[in-house]
Amino acid sequence: MSKTRLEGKVAIITGAASGIGEATARLFTSNGAIVVIADIQDKLGIAVAASIGADKCSYVHCDVTDEAQVESAVHYPVSKHGRLDIMYSNAGVAILSPSILELNMGDFDKVMSVNVRGTAAALKHAGRAMVAAGIRGSIICTGSIASCQSGYGPAGYVTSKHAVLGLVRAAAADLGRHGIRVNCVSPSGVATPMGCEATRMTPEEMEQLTAAISCLKGAVLKANHVAAAALFLASDESEFISGHNLVIDGGSTVVNPTTLQIFEQASN
Ligand code: NAD
Repeated sequence: MSKTRLEGKVAIITGAASGIGEATARLFTSNGAIVVIADIQDKLGIAVAASIGADKCSYVHCDVTDEAQVESAVHYPVSKHGRLDIMYSNAGVAILSPSILELNMGDFDKVMSVNVRGTAAALKHAGRAMVAAGIRGSIICTGSIASCQSGYGPAGYVTSKHAVLGLVRAAAADLGRHGIRVNCVSPSGVATPMGCEATRMTPEEMEQLTAAISCLKGAVLKANHVAAAALFLASDESEFISGHNLVIDGGSTVVNPTTLQIFEQASN
């Protein structure tokens, strides 16, 4: 497959100083895109952009909970590179909470503010920039398998990721009339700083856990797999795909493990 699937396109990726966003910034630029990293980890974001190369990647500070910062981050690639073709709204947080009985409402608000409000602001301002320029762009949001099932995280996180998928579907309807596509990528557990912190696991433990819940054996989920899905949705190869939730989970959400176990026990 061609390595220039995003030639001539300009992208902004929130939460790209680390993890899935960083892997995607690297993959997008290696496929010909110019990428702006928008994050709150300034030192890390600047270092990642520099390691990719100043001609292909730059960094802008953006706390997605602040709509004005999202708006100005979206304007940055437009003023610097003259256009915005791709918005990847990926910034997210997870805060541990064992049960809804222990739910801390402050933590709930924080998760909703980053994951849902931040995504809404990204959709709004990227959508506006694309509509104003007449660009048939692609917007991608990071959901999670928690966007379609519970049991993969605390209540606040599950709620927020269901809401991200709702936003994707609503925006696909609103922006579709302008030729703009909006899709979601929904991975299971990836051994990123956020993933490991939220599960209190080492990267190895996290990868083992993800492998254990997957139907697909012999493969290990990496940030690059999510980046590859985002690349497909960002590129013209997915020209007629909008409102979709591309789950990257080795089949874990298509199987009910309890049913599987009962059938396996019955057949033995
Ligand atoms: P990560 O910690 O490596 O990256 C998250 C990035 O988001 C960080 O660079 C962080 O600074 C940034 N960020 C946090 N709050 C922000 C804010 N207010 N404004 C701007 N940036 C902010 O973790 P990751 O796993 O790569 O997470 C990326 C996305 O993937 C998140 O939306 C997360 O919910 C989602 N996700 C992760 C997993 C997993 O297991 N790691 C699984 C499913 C979905």
